[in-house]
Amino acid sequence: MNIAKDLAPTFKKELENASSVLIGTHLNPDGDALGSALAMSLYLDSLGISNEVMCHHNAPQNLKFLPRVDTVSQQAKLDSYDLGIVVDLDAMDRLGRTQQFFDRCKRLVVIDHHLPIDAPGDVRIVDTSEPATALILTRLLTELGANITPDIATCLLTGIVTDTGSFRFRNTTPDALSISATLLEHGGDINQINEEIFQSKPLASVRLLGHALETMRLECNNRLAWSSLSNHDFVSADALDEDTEGVVNEMLFITSVQIAALIREPKPGRVRCSFRSRGDFDVAEAARDFGGGGHKNAAGCTFDLPLDQAEELVVRRLKACLESY
Ligand code: 5GP
Ligand code: MN
Repeated sequence: MNIAKDLAPTFKKELENASSVLIGTHLNPDGDALGSALAMSLYLDSLGISNEVMCHHNAPQNLKFLPRVDTVSQQAKLDSYDLGIVVDLDAMDRLGRTQQFFDRCKRLVVIDHHLPIDAPGDVRIVDTSEPATALILTRLLTELGANITPDIATCLLTGIVTDTGSFRFRNTTPDALSISATLLEHGGDINQINEEIFQSKPLASVRLLGHALETMRLECNNRLAWSSLSNHDFVSADALDEDTEGVVNEMLFITSVQIAALIREPKPGRVRCSFRSRGDFDVAEAARDFGGGGHKNAAGCTFDLPLDQAEELVVRRLKACLESY
């Protein structure tokens, strides 16, 4: 089944009826979110369709290399747009402050690969079996006969590389590799992507990683690993939430660990959680119990609770997840 191929004519019609397009993605954007949004923007430019990209948060430091990333804004230029396109997003509230602008779009297209939460959108190009939104978008653009420029290829490849952990995660499909090869042929710069995303960390992020691993706790016969970072930890390391990227994976890499969680309070009063699991352990289910979401092996949620209360809820729920098999 190729949903992008099936829905390409429908998507084309939406574009034909639109003279202004607003493109958006989720809070705390990652490489798949921004890569997909910017690739879409570059494609619409090539068609001469006026468009803007909006995101609640600025691009993290390691995505500042993305072509046109400096055009991403937090304020819409128009009151309303003919068409909204949101990428890598499963629920409208994940648009944060930008949601209001998308609510006012006359039509809404969603391109995504998450397990749907509230399934918004007039047209939904959603395939949860795909490793990255950027891969669905590559299929869509190819079907539409788009000219994949080196910049578009770099944006799309960033999405695939990010969400497959540089082709190491279990979601790495044959198509993820073959479509990436095609993007390389179109001038996608995989060396730059790998260097920027995986090989250039701010000192603060390495210090936080050290602290998180040192204070890590193991439960259930070392099958559950979790750690938490307080707001004080962030302040003393002069770190941002984006500096915790990858920490949870390091805990999951321990041979005995089946589920790992990082619970942190980058800003006072707001606790963000990242869950990772191996095999059949479904952490998306756990995240959804707390109003979050994601994928079976990589999910997250957010609490407006003190850190210790969030820790207690999360650890209890993840233990139950481990014990259910
Ligand atoms: P990460 O741990 O890398 O921030 O996120 C892993 C996955 O969980 C991503 O697919 C992301 O969209 C999802 N996720 C993380 N935090 C939240 C959240 O607060 N709400 C929802 N709905 N999904 C989240
Ligand atoms: Mn994604």
